[in-house]
Amino acid sequence: MNKKESKITRRKFVNLGAKGYASVQLACALPVSVLANTGRNSLETSTFHGVCYHDCPDSCSWEVKVQDDKVISFGGDKANPFTAGKLCGKMETFPDDITYHPDRLLTPMKRIGKKGEGKFEPISWEQAIGEIGDQLKQTITEHGSESVLSHGYMGTQSIVQKTVMSSRFFARMEASDIAHTICGGAVIPANFEVNGTAMGVLPEDMVHSRYIILWGTNTKNSNVHQWPFVLKAKEAGAKIIVVDPFVSATAKEADWHIQPLPGTDVALALSMMNVMINEDLVDQDYIDNYTSGYKDLKEHVKSYSPKSVSDICGLPEEDIIQFAREYAKGDPSLIRILVGIEHNYNGGDGTRAVAILPSLTGAWRKLGGGLMHLTFEMSGRALNWERLDFHRQMPTQPKRTLNMVQIGQLLNNLNLDPVIKSIFIYNSNPMVTSPNANLTKKGLEREDLLTVVLEHFMTETAKYADYVFPATTQLEHWDIGDSWGQVYININQPAITPLGEAKPNSEFFRIMAHEMGYTDECFKESDMDLVKSAFDSDHPYLDGIDFEYMQKNGWARYKIPEPFLPHADGNFSTASGKCEFISQSSGLPTYKEVSYTEKEKTDHPLQLLTIKNTKGFHNSSHANVKHLQQKEGLPWLDIHADDAKARDIQNGDELMIFNQRGKVILEAKISARIRPGVVCMPHGYWPSLIKGGQASNNLTDDQLTDIGGGAALQDCRVQVAKA
Ligand code: SF4
Repeated sequence: MNKKESKITRRKFVNLGAKGYASVQLACALPVSVLANTGRNSLETSTFHGVCYHDCPDSCSWEVKVQDDKVISFGGDKANPFTAGKLCGKMETFPDDITYHPDRLLTPMKRIGKKGEGKFEPISWEQAIGEIGDQLKQTITEHGSESVLSHGYMGTQSIVQKTVMSSRFFARMEASDIAHTICGGAVIPANFEVNGTAMGVLPEDMVHSRYIILWGTNTKNSNVHQWPFVLKAKEAGAKIIVVDPFVSATAKEADWHIQPLPGTDVALALSMMNVMINEDLVDQDYIDNYTSGYKDLKEHVKSYSPKSVSDICGLPEEDIIQFAREYAKGDPSLIRILVGIEHNYNGGDGTRAVAILPSLTGAWRKLGGGLMHLTFEMSGRALNWERLDFHRQMPTQPKRTLNMVQIGQLLNNLNLDPVIKSIFIYNSNPMVTSPNANLTKKGLEREDLLTVVLEHFMTETAKYADYVFPATTQLEHWDIGDSWGQVYININQPAITPLGEAKPNSEFFRIMAHEMGYTDECFKESDMDLVKSAFDSDHPYLDGIDFEYMQKNGWARYKIPEPFLPHADGNFSTASGKCEFISQSSGLPTYKEVSYTEKEKTDHPLQLLTIKNTKGFHNSSHANVKHLQQKEGLPWLDIHADDAKARDIQNGDELMIFNQRGKVILEAKISARIRPGVVCMPHGYWPSLIKGGQASNNLTDDQLTDIGGGAALQDCRVQVAKA
């Protein structure tokens, strides 16, 4: 086939693809109830079901009303008992903030300036896809398919646009895959090593708990629909304990805030065990029947006496003893963890130690007792993943997986075999969300690197792209919203026609597959086909729940057997079927002191926490929305009075926070929210939108956690001085 014929075919496909998508989507978007008599371009009002796409435990259900193809009202779906009609502040005005935002990208763009300069010109889909296809084919011929890297993440956690078509595309290409490790990278495998699962106590069953430990989680701000269950339990007599090195909004509400030094959770939990075992506060019957490794653990924790751990954690010995006693006697006790515990070098073992505690006390025996962690396994069991994860059955597979925590190192490593020559970035903004951002920047500046970004806005990362494609928002495409924090499943119906030339991520990869000559049937499935397939399941959790049901109702609670007491009689999903105190791969959980050179300790004596405590931003999302920026104000550095005094720093002084990786300029807030020796700044601000052009991840290190290759972001040392 000559070039001209190829172009004609390409043009036909792109046009067909777009029209095919639009026509299929238009007809099928409408709820069954209104299919007969209305349409998007009608002046009648149509109502659509949807779900928030953010990487958030709540997964709120919403309802969108549309008239004449425009959103006229948007809000939480009041019928859903868990999210109860309430969206958080950052999402209440989502249509205007994101979908209809004047800065939204609505046409493909091609770079015309230097990488990072932000100079682009519009280009047609056809032209851009053709140019990328030509470059990719040449790259694969010269360097092999593994020189192409897929870098998707949780910019949407809804299943179809997060992964399905892109996974097929990169599996078909045999490109390099990325390990999704920044969030959950340590905490999930660690809990699996102990319990064989991250499933535990159901969110609603927290009301039965009488001693609740929110361990490294700012529930009030970042799990807003769980918070009412905390309050209900409290009303019923529960004591609320927060373990957090920072005085968060949640810590302020606690009956007892325990504030250990960052990264010492493992020592604290092992010391609690020391007390519980010494004082015979354990459930020996539960231990004997449903756990393994107790004898070794008992011996191991002898070296974690409250006296010896007191210095490590920076906690009074008597507090550790009291905490252990209260926890063991809680009737029942519940520990809630998410990802706060994992972002340090000891994160994996910290998680394992905490995950062992409920089996020592037999807390699992009672409703509301045990560990509450993640619920994603519910959808893993219920939905038809054989269809969704079709890429796993393909004869071609990605041959290497690279760790996203070290994306900067990877892009700069010219000895990598093969070196990364092309990167597709979708649902992610690594210039803001990955550690060691200046190294990432240097990598993305490589002139020989082909960078393709799918986005809503010209983000910090998109500025480094060669091509940026406009992605649809959650109001414009099909999807399925499962949850990792609760037990409801949602459908997301496209409520309006995609604005401008925006296309779903799935469609981008279908078009790209065609361009690459991949004719496999799996690239022909429409998004609605995928949603339908997902609900084509005979799993009992979806009894009576199918695509039609979801179209009509929007959401469903899994039909989970109740009461849900997954480990009342053991039944752990480990190889032994027991709660494993010793892991075959990691041994017993152990506190490891992070080793810094003397020079490092002198030059950068303060430990920096970079935390997600903004209410208006979601990681890096929404940080470009003016009214949310105004609500949040400028970021500042929390610094303890002792550390401020030693540096002659006053409240409101402009500060330089620096280390060998970067330099951030922020105002000082002398604060009792952190301990001496620790400073804290928020994560999520776009560097270019704050003075000095650098933000939290320009300082963080890309070292890995002890288990799972997660991000040890909070093991970051800095010095602070007046600017
Ligand atoms: S970000 Fe979380 S709490 Fe806010 S609307 Fe989305 S799912 Fe709900």
